[in-house]
Amino acid sequence: MFILVINCGSSSAKYDLFDVDGKSSDLCRGIVERIGEDSATLTHEIMGEEKVHRKVSCRDHHQAIEIIRDALIDEKKSVLRDTSEVKGVGHRVVHGGEEFSESTLINENVLKSIEKFSELAPLHNPPSLEGIKSCMKIFQGVPQAAVFDTAFHHSMSKHVFCYGIPYEYYEKYGIRRYGFHGTSHRYVANKTAEILKKPIEKLKTITVHLGNGCSIAAVSGAKSIDTSMGFTPLEGLLMGTRSGDIDPAVVTFLMQRERVTDEQVNDILNKKSGLLGVSGVSNDMRDILGAIKKGNTRAKLAYDIFVYRIKKYIGAYAAVLGRVDAVVFTAGIGENLPRIKDDLQKELRPLLGENTRFLIVKTNEELLIAKDTYELVSRLID
Ligand code: AMP
Repeated sequence: MFILVINCGSSSAKYDLFDVDGKSSDLCRGIVERIGEDSATLTHEIMGEEKVHRKVSCRDHHQAIEIIRDALIDEKKSVLRDTSEVKGVGHRVVHGGEEFSESTLINENVLKSIEKFSELAPLHNPPSLEGIKSCMKIFQGVPQAAVFDTAFHHSMSKHVFCYGIPYEYYEKYGIRRYGFHGTSHRYVANKTAEILKKPIEKLKTITVHLGNGCSIAAVSGAKSIDTSMGFTPLEGLLMGTRSGDIDPAVVTFLMQRERVTDEQVNDILNKKSGLLGVSGVSNDMRDILGAIKKGNTRAKLAYDIFVYRIKKYIGAYAAVLGRVDAVVFTAGIGENLPRIKDDLQKELRPLLGENTRFLIVKTNEELLIAKDTYELVSRLID
C-alpha cells in the first residue's frame, strides 16, 4: 500500500513515498524549498537513481503539493500511474497540544485543533495546516493522518510538565512543558528494543536526539516520562542556534540593557545562540569541529557546553528512571559523531554501571509517520 508522508515547514515541503506492505521501504523522496521566492527549487530522488534538482515556480504550499503530485506521476520518471494509488497521506504536525496522545485521522475537528494550537507553534502549525488542506484537495478522498511531535510526551506526569509559575497561566494559556521530537524518540526507543531483543515494556532508555534541534527523553516501558524541550523547542540542550536552558531573568535583563524588543530577544535565543552564538563560527557541528582543530577556543567552549549538558541530563534522567538499560544517540550529530557517545560512555560508567548499553540508532521519523498512517487507514478498510 502506498503511503505519502508530507512535512511542511515555513518555506519548504518535504515528501517521502512509502510502500508500507512488506519491508516498508521508501520509493522516492524529495523537497520543495524556498516556497514563495523566485528561487524555489524541487529536489526529487527516486531510490537507487540520481537526484534531480530543478527550479520551480512555487508561490505557496498549495502549489508545492501540486509540484510534489506532478513529480510522483511524472510521465518520464513515474513512480505512480495515478494519485489514486496513494491510499493515505501522513502529515508531520509539530503541536498537538494536550489533546492528542497519538496519531489520528484528520477530520474537521482535528483541523480546528491544529489551528487552535498554532498559537503555541506559530512557525510550525500554520504551514502544516496549509499542507493538509492542500492534500485534501489534491488527493481528494484519500484519508489524511496527523502525526504529532508532542504526542509521545503526552504520558509525562503533571509534576513533570508543570512549570513553577502561577497555575492560572497553565489554565489560561496552556503554559506547560509539551516536549517535541516525539516521533524520533518513539522510533529510536522501539528500534532499541528490537536491537536488544527485549520487549520495550521492560526497557528503560534514554534517547538523545542531536540534530540542528536537540532533545533528550527518559523512556520507561514505551512511555516518555520526561524530556528536555518544554513549552517550545527552546528549552533544554544546547542546539545549533538555540540557547537551551537559561535563567529566564536573562530575557528581561537583555531587554532592558540592550534595549531590544520581545521579538528580538526571541530571535537572539532561537536563531543567534547555541553553537553559533557561543562559537561565533557556525551552527553546524562539522564547522565547530574544524574550528577546534585550528585552535579556536570559543568553538571548543561551544562543544564543551554541548556535551556537558547532555551528560547532565543523562545523569538527571538516570535518577528519574532508577535504572538505565540503554543510552541511544540519534540524528545528524548523534549518528555521525560517535566520539560523543564514546566519551560519555566512559565518563558515565561509574554512575550507570556496566550493564547500560550505549548505542547509535539512525532515526526515521518519516517511516514511523508512514506506519502510523497505514495503521489508521487499514482500520478504515477493515
Ligand atoms: P539534522 O538536523 O539531524 O540533519 O542534523 C544536523 C546536524 O548534524 C548539523 O549540526 C551537522 O553538522 C551535524 N552533522 C552531520 N553530519 C555530521 C558529521 N559527519 N559529523 C559531525 N556532525 C555532523
